[in-house]
Amino acid sequence: MAVSLAPLDPNQTHGEAPAHTAEMARLRDEVFLLETLMDNSPDSIYFKDLESRFTRINRYAAERFGVGEPAQAVGRTDFDYFTDEHATQAFRDEQEIVRTGLPLVNVEEKETKPDGGVRWVSTTKMPLRDSAGRIVGTFGVSRDITQRKEFEDQLERQAFFDTLTHLPNRALFMNRLQHLFHRARRAETDLVFAVLYLDIDRFKGVNDGLGHQAGDDLLVEIARRLERCVRPSDTLARLGGDEFTILLEDIASEVDATRIADRIQRELSTPFLVHGQELFSSASVGIALSSSSYQRPEDMLRDADIAMYRAKAGGRSRHQVFDADMHQRAVSLLRLETDLRRAIERGELVPYYQPIIDLATRTLRGFEALARWRHPTRGMVMPDVFIPVAEETGLIGPIGDFMLLESCRQMRKWQDLHPRTPPLCISVNVSTRQLAQTDVAEQVRRVLLETGLAPACLTLEITESALMQNLKSGAGVIQRLHEMSVRLHVDDFGTGYSSLSYLHNFPVHTLKVDRSFVSRMEDAPNQAEIVKAIVSLAQNLGMEVTAEGVETNAQADALEDLHCTSAQGFLFSRPLPAADAERLIVDGIPPY
Ligand code: C2E
Ligand code: MG
Ligand code: MG
Repeated sequence: MAVSLAPLDPNQTHGEAPAHTAEMARLRDEVFLLETLMDNSPDSIYFKDLESRFTRINRYAAERFGVGEPAQAVGRTDFDYFTDEHATQAFRDEQEIVRTGLPLVNVEEKETKPDGGVRWVSTTKMPLRDSAGRIVGTFGVSRDITQRKEFEDQLERQAFFDTLTHLPNRALFMNRLQHLFHRARRAETDLVFAVLYLDIDRFKGVNDGLGHQAGDDLLVEIARRLERCVRPSDTLARLGGDEFTILLEDIASEVDATRIADRIQRELSTPFLVHGQELFSSASVGIALSSSSYQRPEDMLRDADIAMYRAKAGGRSRHQVFDADMHQRAVSLLRLETDLRRAIERGELVPYYQPIIDLATRTLRGFEALARWRHPTRGMVMPDVFIPVAEETGLIGPIGDFMLLESCRQMRKWQDLHPRTPPLCISVNVSTRQLAQTDVAEQVRRVLLETGLAPACLTLEITESALMQNLKSGAGVIQRLHEMSVRLHVDDFGTGYSSLSYLHNFPVHTLKVDRSFVSRMEDAPNQAEIVKAIVSLAQNLGMEVTAEGVETNAQADALEDLHCTSAQGFLFSRPLPAADAERLIVDGIPPY
């Protein structure tokens, strides 16, 4: 080999006295050993002179540089094999090593392979000295660590990125937010930033209706569109499920944040094509702006979340900026939740009963049980306030249980005390979550057994929207209830956008026309027409109709003319405590 290796060059001894032959042989063996070692090393090894020209490289280095034979690299520099930037840095490093005599250990660098791919190497460079200890160049060993790097990258992606959308996950988002908190503390002037909390409206419907794969595909599509709404310096993350967050850094004011929220709505308003289906989507967006009162990033995220809930409650597809009042409301809601947990055991929860009237005979058919909460300090709390809290917290399970048991027991008692034909019936409300998360059919079976009430005397009221949201999970429950002869009434009909023909798939006994239609009946002729249409369609499908919220005689008369079966409303009676309701059973409905 023609390459010179400074401290151990056997050629230098060429032509000397035979006395040195033994020494020569030893040196040759040594060189052979070193060459074997070098050429079989899985690392690239190279030697350079003081000007950073290669004096020798091993096989692996030749491969790394893309040259056929190691000898071809002699006299060349990094500039021949690497980018200028890389080569310049290497040159500087080596000059530094030559100057100071200090090594450079395990420097990790990324380089472009001759085939264009990427390689990571970990390099250690040392000064090369001659036998007198003078520095005559440098040598380096570079180990290919591409696999390890890829593995590390993958681990990092798993730890900080969402696998479905490849967006940053909660951990990375909180990391960045934390970072911004630090920056804001150090900054001289006020740093304004915002957290946007997004929840996709009615996403559950997609998952339930079209399956999880479609849901996943939609989420990926949504992620791509959201990316178009933010600047590269912002962080868009997926927190999980259908919830996304955006961190807007360095904005001028609230206006910038609301403008982004508007842009998001616009982006989402174009329909999505998922599994051949056109889907419409929108998001409810809560916005929290940076403020010195925030001590922790979590608090800011929490407030954006609270604001998002307000946006959703305000009618979806909108945004809401957090304000202090919301915090108050959230706190009081939390207190309500704590109180609600104790309400049942303390006997604060009571069913009220509102009579249901047969319009043709003007007699009592039964009652609807409506939950009331006698709160020790707040007074009477209405179901509109605490049922949503109960649903959110899972307390709807025990509350639903209690209402069902208590009202069935009460009805059985009344039937025993005041027998009549046909027997009075009791209607009990079942909420969305109850239908989705509890085994209502099993619950009903137990209660009927325990109270001895005939199944035909029990009606479950399920709102139209609850039914539509639980088409799959609800269908089985409803079928089993039907097999037990328990009746199903569709509550608040007309507000849930279902079609009557769809409802026909369920064993629906009665439609309860929502109060909003009844109350407008006298206002405009077309409103009366709607009720008329509902009644006749229901009749054609073999269902009965109950009108909700009847308040005037005119409404009652009009409904009777339409052959609406029964009615409920303040005109006949408000919901009453059990004792007062019992008086109605005995005395009959007062004339109206
Ligand atoms: P809903 O099932 O549609 O009940 C009818 C609501 O309309 C009741 O309100 C009733 O008091 C009211 N109402 C009846 N007649 C009239 C009228 O002539 N005019 C007016 N303005 N209102 C009338 P309430 O008791 O506040 O209940 C509200 C809702 O809360 C119920 O609507 C029902 O969806 C839910 N709810 C009540 N009790 C329970 C329960 O035990 N479990 C579940 N899951 N939900 C319940
Ligand atoms: Mg009801
Ligand atoms: Mg209703």
